[in-house]
Amino acid sequence: MKLRLPSFRTLVLITAIAAIYYASARFGLTLALERTNASPVWPPSGIAFAFVLLLGYRIWPGIAIGAFLANLTTFLSYGDVAPIPIIVVSSLIAVGNTLEAICGAFLLRLWIGSRNPFDHALDYLRFFLTVLLMCAVAATIGPTTLLSFGFFSKTLYPVVWFTWWLGDIVGILVLTPIFIAWRPPLFPPRWKLRRYFEILLFAFFFWIMAETIFGTYFHVEGIHFKYTLILFVIYAAFRFGQIGASLAVLTLSAITIWNTYHGIGPFVVESQNESLLILQLFIAATSFTSLFVSAVLNDQKNTEEKLRQDQERTHLILETANDAFIGMDEKGDITDWNRQAQMLFGWLREEVIGRPLAGVIIPHRYREAHWKGLKHFFATHEGPILNKRLELSALHRKGHEFLVELTVWPIRFEGSYRFNAVLRDITERKRAEERLKQVIEFAPNAMVMVNQEGKIMLANQMVEKVFGYSHEELVGKPIETLVPHRFREKHESDRKVFHQQPTARPVAGRELYGLHKNGTEIPVEIGLSPVETPDGTLVLAAIIDISERKQAEKRVAQFVKEIESANEELRGFAHIVSHDLKAPLRGIATVVEWLMNDYRAKLGKKGEEWLELINERVNLSHTLIDGILEYSSVGQVKGKAREIDLNVLVREVIDVLMPPENISVEVESTLPTIHADPVRIRQIFQNLIGNAIKYMDKPNGKIKIRCEPDGAYWKFSISDNGPGISENYFEKIFQMFQTLQRKDKSKSTGIGLALVKKIVESYGGSIWLESKVGEGSTFYFTLPSKGAVVYEEARQQNEIRRI
Ligand code: ADP
Repeated sequence: MKLRLPSFRTLVLITAIAAIYYASARFGLTLALERTNASPVWPPSGIAFAFVLLLGYRIWPGIAIGAFLANLTTFLSYGDVAPIPIIVVSSLIAVGNTLEAICGAFLLRLWIGSRNPFDHALDYLRFFLTVLLMCAVAATIGPTTLLSFGFFSKTLYPVVWFTWWLGDIVGILVLTPIFIAWRPPLFPPRWKLRRYFEILLFAFFFWIMAETIFGTYFHVEGIHFKYTLILFVIYAAFRFGQIGASLAVLTLSAITIWNTYHGIGPFVVESQNESLLILQLFIAATSFTSLFVSAVLNDQKNTEEKLRQDQERTHLILETANDAFIGMDEKGDITDWNRQAQMLFGWLREEVIGRPLAGVIIPHRYREAHWKGLKHFFATHEGPILNKRLELSALHRKGHEFLVELTVWPIRFEGSYRFNAVLRDITERKRAEERLKQVIEFAPNAMVMVNQEGKIMLANQMVEKVFGYSHEELVGKPIETLVPHRFREKHESDRKVFHQQPTARPVAGRELYGLHKNGTEIPVEIGLSPVETPDGTLVLAAIIDISERKQAEKRVAQFVKEIESANEELRGFAHIVSHDLKAPLRGIATVVEWLMNDYRAKLGKKGEEWLELINERVNLSHTLIDGILEYSSVGQVKGKAREIDLNVLVREVIDVLMPPENISVEVESTLPTIHADPVRIRQIFQNLIGNAIKYMDKPNGKIKIRCEPDGAYWKFSISDNGPGISENYFEKIFQMFQTLQRKDKSKSTGIGLALVKKIVESYGGSIWLESKVGEGSTFYFTLPSKGAVVYEEARQQNEIRRI
């Protein structure tokens, strides 16, 4: 451990304490038993203890030096003692005196910590006990040392020990409180002039009393007033607190010691030491009494203050509470009425305190019941409305009634009953509850409100329709009544989990069923939402009967299946029919060929023309049959999708079509690259450009091809300045076999646009046209730009979902 030198400040402090200790010790030693240094009056003990308590253990050298020097000089003044024993004895006595203060401070801190020992009665008792113990330290070390060096005979030891001990005790009892109690401010600022006058008067009578006892001015012989002095110090304790008590004790001890020392007064007996010892016992008792009284008073004051603060706090809590608080005594009179009560009922506190509660807030028709209830309570100590949350009508000062929620509870207070009530206006809440009830009652879905235990609190009209139970049959029953037996157990545990963290949500799970009163199960969908109410969190369940939807879904699935198989059949049929139709056609064509070859001359010109016609019709039938096959294969036969540069593809299509001289075909914008089946895309352009060329009726035919982005699509257009199409046919031309030409007159089959529409739509695009008769037509169609593959996947998924 590193040794630290005391600071300059500490050094000054130690020196000052040494000086004070030395001076007071020298004074004490003047009253010491001869050649013992044991004095019945020993102020240094009180000073030393106060300093250690106030400044800490570090000032111990001050005590040691002061004590050493005081004893040393006293012994020296005897003149006949050798220097070595003087030094040793003085040192040991100094050790005893120092240890006494240190031990005392240690013990006291251990017991009461850093509290002022004079503030509480119990602490003062501990202080007193500490003093008795600590003083034994010096009283043992000092006299024992003196005895062993032969300063006095063994027989004197008990007297010396006791004198030493008592001197130290009284020194502490009288002086330590002065130091500890006298902390600034010396005079409390709330002391009035009257208080100073009282002090003066007190001092005057104190002096009179002292004079009566020890007096030189007046003296009553033979009557001892000495114990009346105690009254004065007690009075001081009562009126002036710790400071007053300790000052009075100090004054008293100064006066009595002075007089007794001079052989005056009631404490004087034969030997001076004995006189002083008796006096010191008296002072110790007086000091103890007065400081104990002051501590008790202080305790009481604190308790009262705490009580007052508690009351204040309670009052504040009640005043700032959101609820009205009303107190009533046994007679039924109002005793408390807080701010909220004033606001709720319109009566001021001072107007209602002391008036019967019934006359103020209870509507006339309930007053008799109120008095009866009160009587019943005193007869049986039971009250059906006590300690419960109730909803009742209350009367406002203006005469109207309103709904309140209230709780009344009785308390026993100072031997009689008091009734406390907390009230709250619930008009608004009731209205909201009513509105909610209405909404629930007339909701288009079945709705039930369930409490935390799973009991049904409310069920609306629709519940009866869906489950067959009436409202009355369900209220109070467990919600599981509406759950099929096989789900009940799980439902109960799920319900508990939901109640722990209720949030609005649909009930998860694919298949939910309710149980009808007649035992059948109903497929349902359920949504849950928590509703906060004064009775806790309730859960509102909205239940939708989805039986019809389920059936409809079933029906749709059935239809889709049927259509699928019909489609399948049709496709097969188309294939067979086309195939079978082609065979006789081929037969006809062969017969026509034979006729042409073998009978051309016999048939003549007319016959030859007819044979030509037959041939043409056979070819058209071929084309028709191919068209049907083609059409039915779109969306069935999947070609491989790949990147197609439309600039190349469209150019190829135009080349194949070989437009005549008078028709120009222009691609007006750069065309995109798309991801699709090239065969199908070629069919789109071939048909649309082909039609534009085929139906061109102008000497200067102009066909234009354009493309522009349109959201996630490309929008293509093919416009011509041909004959145009009347708006009546905008829809029709996209249908199968619809042509605007007479079939026997032209080569049109009416399949081209139907095929194009089917292809475009199979990619998720659409097709339409704008046209004016005589001016020309523009065909528009869109194709997805993000890639046909992505679209195709989405389409398939969609179809799956629809099924
Ligand atoms: P087809 O060309 O074999 O008759 P389409 O389905 O391709 O069959 O066309 C249906 C009808 O629409 C045609 O018969 C024709 O009258 C009309 N049409 C198609 N394209 C044009 C066009 N560019 N200008 C005028 N009429 C058209």
